[in-house]
Amino acid sequence: MPFINAFAAQSASESLAPFQIERRTPGPNDVHIDIQFCGVCHSDLHQARGEWGNSMYPMVPGHEIVGKVIDLGENVNKFKIGDSVGVGCLVDSCRECEYCNESQEQYCEKGATQTYNGKERISKALTFGGYSSDIVVDERFVMKISEKLDLAAAAPLLCAGITTYSPLRYVNVKKGDKVAVLGLGGLGHMGVKLAVAMGAEVTMLSTSPSKKADAERLGAHDFALITDPTQMKSLRNSFHYILNTVSVDHDYGLILSLLKTNGTMIMVGLPPTFMPIHAFSLVPKRKSILGSTIGGMAETQEMLDFCAKHNIVSDIEIIKMQDIETAYARMQKNDVRYRFVIDMASLK
Ligand code: NAP
Ligand code: ZN
Ligand code: ZN
Repeated sequence: MPFINAFAAQSASESLAPFQIERRTPGPNDVHIDIQFCGVCHSDLHQARGEWGNSMYPMVPGHEIVGKVIDLGENVNKFKIGDSVGVGCLVDSCRECEYCNESQEQYCEKGATQTYNGKERISKALTFGGYSSDIVVDERFVMKISEKLDLAAAAPLLCAGITTYSPLRYVNVKKGDKVAVLGLGGLGHMGVKLAVAMGAEVTMLSTSPSKKADAERLGAHDFALITDPTQMKSLRNSFHYILNTVSVDHDYGLILSLLKTNGTMIMVGLPPTFMPIHAFSLVPKRKSILGSTIGGMAETQEMLDFCAKHNIVSDIEIIKMQDIETAYARMQKNDVRYRFVIDMASLK
């Protein structure tokens, strides 16, 4: 296949810039997708800047990919040309371990292949993500997107949506559960919408007073500032679950103090720093911390269907590919309401 347009980081200290990449010719099980929109996840920024220490360059970020099917391998029967489809954080896995057999490919024993900043299972070539004009992906890792959903606003469901849906389902959040969502950003705003749709009583915990009205609009029943000691004191021992989506170091002891006895803090945020936690924050009230990463392919499709049923999409601001560095700078300043989505027409 000819080279295609993309945007790449060449090192942790360089701005993203135009770059040409090659996609494979679609094999029998492949779907060739014309990328129309790609969400900008905080993980793109962490990895482009080398904050997690695992970055490989050149890096073409982007794992909230939506577009239209333009070509299909001969064995593909799940899709037809013109379908709206999505690709999330994974493009391959071993397909034979215990977790792959349960369609929990994100926990593949051999390590699933990340959509970018990963290596292809067989060829070991670097994978390149959605900041590009098109992508070729095995059908197992391609999701159907309902025509009922706005395609651009559905893009963030592929990471922010599934990352918050999967642990809420895992702990079986149900009507009447008291759930707090910490951090009103890309993940947090999806966490609020999904937990509300699951019937929970949802409190938004934030550092930003200006987000109170938005939290209410998104469906949160209550809002509190973690920077206000009086509000924090009154919320001690209040929540069954806290979905922690914060991307930087913060006071974990304070957050754990808000859980009820037997409560669980679900970590989905990935600050690059260590988490210092005192045993006394957990032991006396049998509290726990649960980590969770994205979701498997079956569950991602289930989440997309749930969102179509409940009419849930992301709140987005559409940007041009050329404005990605401005978007990253604004994300770092906590100035996103609530997900940037790149219009890939700007790259073509
Ligand atoms: P984001 O849009 O930048 O949101 C992060 C939120 O954290 C902000 O909106 C802000 O909310 C809060 N925050 C910022 N500075 C803070 C501070 N100093 N103290 C407390 N809270 C602060 O990022 P995102 O895309 O949602 O991603 C969030 C994290 O999840 C990132 O670390 C990302 O890498 C990770 N992630 C994990 C997975 C997974 O599979 N587990 C998947 C995707 C992303 P307020 O203004 O409301 O305080
Ligand atoms: Zn992500
Ligand atoms: Zn596996």
